[in-house]
Amino acid sequence: MNSPAVPAMRARQRFIDLHGSEPLVAVAPGRVNLVGEHTDYNDGYVLPMGIDLHVAVAFAPRRDGQLRARSVTVEETRQVDLVELSAPGGSEWFDYVAAVAWALADAGEPVGGIDMVIAGNIPIGSGLSSSAALEVSVARALCEVSSVQWDPPKMARLCQRAENQYVGVNCGIMDQYAAAASRAGCALLLDCRDLTVTPVEIPSRASFVVMDTGVRRTLAGSAYNRRRASCEAAVARLRERDPAIRALRDVTPDGLAAAEPLMHPETYSRAKHVVEEMVRPQQLAEALQAGDLETAGRVMNESHASLRDLYEVSSAELEEITELARNTAGCYGARMTGAGFGGCAVALVETDMASSFVGRMQRRYSAPGGESGYCHICVPSDGAKLV
Ligand code: ADP
Ligand code: MG
Repeated sequence: MNSPAVPAMRARQRFIDLHGSEPLVAVAPGRVNLVGEHTDYNDGYVLPMGIDLHVAVAFAPRRDGQLRARSVTVEETRQVDLVELSAPGGSEWFDYVAAVAWALADAGEPVGGIDMVIAGNIPIGSGLSSSAALEVSVARALCEVSSVQWDPPKMARLCQRAENQYVGVNCGIMDQYAAAASRAGCALLLDCRDLTVTPVEIPSRASFVVMDTGVRRTLAGSAYNRRRASCEAAVARLRERDPAIRALRDVTPDGLAAAEPLMHPETYSRAKHVVEEMVRPQQLAEALQAGDLETAGRVMNESHASLRDLYEVSSAELEEITELARNTAGCYGARMTGAGFGGCAVALVETDMASSFVGRMQRRYSAPGGESGYCHICVPSDGAKLV
């Protein structure tokens, strides 16, 4: 069973063991992005889905202005006086927690002292966004003890700011938005420019299976920043011709092709991926709504090829796992998901065949360490809530 109940029960039980009293519990889901990769920081569209893997925070208010947290995952307790928080902080697990308190206070919200125990079952650093689930579940808890109204889009922005400015990770809005505002049974077609969102119902025939390569993306940070810099360089070039262009979102495929001679070939390839990827979330959403899983799978395969050939963020293991998936019965398409360089891939699979698909994948794929690949059939799940 993989409902929020599992991490929630672990966090609650540990809280009772430590503090001897009954806590409240907040949960937030991980997410899998179905398509629209590296488009969020280009003001584009993404299609994430909250999944049935969660971070849970068991919590109770404190009266002394201290923020104290224990991570069951890391087996460590850390504490800080709320008035001492200032950005930038560090990038250890507790910094993700402190960052949210800092961002709330910095936005002028009241922040009260709190005791927290944190447990989760999202694989860490594999592209399912355990960091956003941690931030958003902490935000849900802090809002509760501080009597701040829970406003998912606003809190998503606030948690993104926490990660950008306090932890120092230059992420887009998608992860925090999905952790805060996902809907059971749906993916979210999200416009990262204005945060308008359209829920896209997942047909019962369609299952999304997450497949972990087992490779953690250690060098991804610097490569990610270089990709962002390429996008900015492309926009700077395009603006010389048309100052109305603010982001790659504002560029058509024809407009980009016309500017090719002005750009370094690598900059052009990166921009071409983003401009073409921009329309895929809408295409996949329409295919899912029409129950056309063949088209949906093709869109996912095209996204993968573009990420491999134009954006160059794939890896040997991601190639192997997605190719195995495409050649396994019941699969309509597969792609890497998340920033790339390892982490997870996602496959669209006929629901009736999802269990046999997982069994076959686990027999066929072995991670570089030798262990069989972790696969998970995702249940589209709600965003952050109290349980
Ligand atoms: P991901 O793709 O999983 O978001 P990141 O590198 O962005 O990978 O974030 C992972 C970090 O988030 C971990 O290194 C840790 O600091 C923090 N984190 C996530 N889940 C937990 C947890 N259950 N307990 C403590 N820290 C966590
Ligand atoms: Mg993250």
